[in-house]
This record gives sequence, structure tokens and C-alpha cells, in this order.
Amino acid sequence: MKYLGQEFFIEKIKAKLIAKKFGTPAYCYSYSRLKENIENLQKNFKSFNPLFCFAVKSNTNKYLLNEISKFGFGADVVSMGELIRAISAGISPNKIVFSGVGKTAREIEYAINKKILLINAESKSEILQIEKIAKLKKKTINIGIRLNPNTDAKTLKEISTGKKENKFGVNEKTFLELVDYIKNSKNLNLKCLSAHIGSQILDHKPYLKMLNVLDKVIRKSNHKFEYVDLGGGMGIDYVHNNKKLNLKKYNSYIQKFLKVNSCKIIFEPGRSIIGDTAVLITNITYIKESDKKDFIILDAGMNDLMRPALYKAEHKIIPIVKKKIKSKKIYEFVGPICETTDKFLTIKNYQKLNENDLIVIYDVGAYGMSLSSNYNLRPKPIELLIHNSKIKIINKRQKLSELV
Ligand code: PLP
Repeated sequence: MKYLGQEFFIEKIKAKLIAKKFGTPAYCYSYSRLKENIENLQKNFKSFNPLFCFAVKSNTNKYLLNEISKFGFGADVVSMGELIRAISAGISPNKIVFSGVGKTAREIEYAINKKILLINAESKSEILQIEKIAKLKKKTINIGIRLNPNTDAKTLKEISTGKKENKFGVNEKTFLELVDYIKNSKNLNLKCLSAHIGSQILDHKPYLKMLNVLDKVIRKSNHKFEYVDLGGGMGIDYVHNNKKLNLKKYNSYIQKFLKVNSCKIIFEPGRSIIGDTAVLITNITYIKESDKKDFIILDAGMNDLMRPALYKAEHKIIPIVKKKIKSKKIYEFVGPICETTDKFLTIKNYQKLNENDLIVIYDVGAYGMSLSSNYNLRPKPIELLIHNSKIKIINKRQKLSELV
């Protein structure tokens, strides 16, 4: 994805032509970028051959899940819906892990029936629930326990999950009690310790802290874990200043950990696989001038891309055709939704924009379409996969008639 001359291209196709043919707003994914991201992660952690379970919550598109599975990926799911979607996209159940604090009895039973790799439990009550269902079915179920390592991931507080005040996982004391409890259970087989400290992590040090906590807790538990699931969280460069997570360092910490704890490592990456593969093409419906700034009113709103409204996430916005003339006003890019938080970015010194100009919102592949909604009864955008000069519709634009 880049400018060639003044025009923005997605792989080998002018974004302007895509908008003309398929309308806006449109999510456009680059297959080449997806492949690059997957191969990059696989290469960086090649020495210990981990199992990668793609975090389906970051992107639930069935076609994309199928493409990702072709690289040997499994899935990390957090609901029965995601589990059904992952299996129907061709992901093998024996590569699926089920996370989340509130799995219902129905969801647990479904996961057991599908013989997935692991149910990663997040509380004592959940473990008792799994045991009860397993007993009724006269089965022994492979489970993991999610440890809350009380580690600051140094990311947005809204996407931090590994501190003691967060609802995820159990603390060390409960973890150790549960390990002892499961040792005496006929229906539970404790195979995994899992952890996930947060998302959009760019500093490698929190991962080292997490591994040190895991190491200590494993020693105290005196249990041989077949799997250690390190979750996801690897961040991407939303601000485009070349700040990247140092995967070499992360890899070296894990190698050290593995010297003392022989086990299979599982990763649950979402954002680092799919985040920077997509842009959202949107049209400027109106420009509303006001005293201090101009509102650039787009045809994409917070219902199409929720991250800025949900946790003030910033996405780079660029015009589809570059021009030299600068605006003297501040621009505030907003959507059409009746909420004050329906805004994407406020920026100075931008190129002068006009109504009906097309623009592109960057890095929307993760938690973009999967967080979209029909708020204000607006149909969801189309999703397109671009590969070289080919365009494939991987999710049709929702019809208004389906909604009203
Ligand atoms: N695993 C778990 C348990 C999560 O909660 C999440 C995201 O919140 C992920 C994996 C994926 O994280 P990311 O998209 O940052 O890689």
C-alpha cells in the first residue's frame, strides 16, 4: 500500500478505482501484507516451532481465516460464534484454544463436543463448571488455567489485561490452589498455563517480566505443563514512526524460559497478523466550516471503525490523491453518527480537501470490521481482498433491506 506518483495504490490497484467500482466505505485488505506478517512471525520464532492460534476476535472474516489457516495457524476463540466460524473456515479443532472469562455451560459443552485443543479457564467457578460437564459426559477434558501475572503491559489502559485490577485470569495463589485441585480430578487434565497481558505492546520488557512470573509460578506449582500459552499482544506501528516491538529480544527471552521449562509454546496473535493489512476507503460527504476548525464529515462512522471512539486510538488518515495545496484550518475527521465521540482524528497542516474527495484510514485490519455494528441502522461496509491486480469480495456490503 503506497503512493505511486500522486495516487494511492493497494497492491497494484488504484484505490480510486476500487471506490468507484465497489462504493464506500470499503475495507480493503492486502494479501501480500498478510503473508508477509505471518511469515515474519513464523521466521522470528522458528527455533522453537510454536503453535500460532490466530485471535479470531481481531478479525472474524471467514475467507481471511481460511487463508491464515493455510499457513498452519490454529485459532484463539472467545465465544461459541467464533468457535463455529473458525471451524467452518477450515481451522482444525485440535489447533483451537478457547479463552474468555464468561464461557457459558452451552459454550463449554460445544467446545468439548468439538474436541478442541484446550479450554483455557479463567476462574475456579469455570473450572468447576467444566468438570461438571465432563463428568456428565464421562470424559477427561484438556484444560489450561489463565494466570494473571500482574504485569503492566505499558499499553493503553483500556487494552491492558494482565494487571491484578483486570478481570482476566486468576492470581498466583488461586492458580496454585487450582493446580492442586485438578491433580485430584478424574475429569480434568491440566495441560496448559496461559497468560495474555494486553494488546498493542511495543516494549519488550513487559514480556520478560511476564515470563519471569510464569517461570516462578510453574516452579511453585510443581506441575509439568505440556503447553505454555503466551497470548498475543504484539503491537504494530499505528503512528508510522518505525517504533516496532523487538521480536528478537522477545524470542531470546522465550528461549531462555524454555531451557528450564520444556514445553510447547502457543501464541495468540491478532493485531500483528492482520492490523496493518487493511485500509478503510471513505468519501467526504460534506465539509462543515466552523470558527476554529473544519469538520470533514465522512461516510464512515464509529459504527464502521470503533477503535477511536472506544479507546481514543489514532489511525493515520491520508488522501487518495495527493495535492500540494495546504489548508490553513485545522481539520477534524468525523463520521455521520449522532455521537460526539464519532471522530477519528484532528490534524493541522493537512492538504486542502474538498467535498467528495476520497480518503483512506490506515491500519484497520484488526478490531475494525470485527468491532463494527449497525448502530444508527447503518449497513456494514464491504470487505475486499486485493492481491496484485485481483480484487475479491470477501464479505458483501450489507443491504439496508436486511436491516429495515
Ligand atoms: N489472546 C487473548 C486472550 C486476548 O484477549 C487477545 C486480545 O485482546 C488476544 C489474544 C489478541 O491480542 P492481539 O490482537 O493484541 O495480538
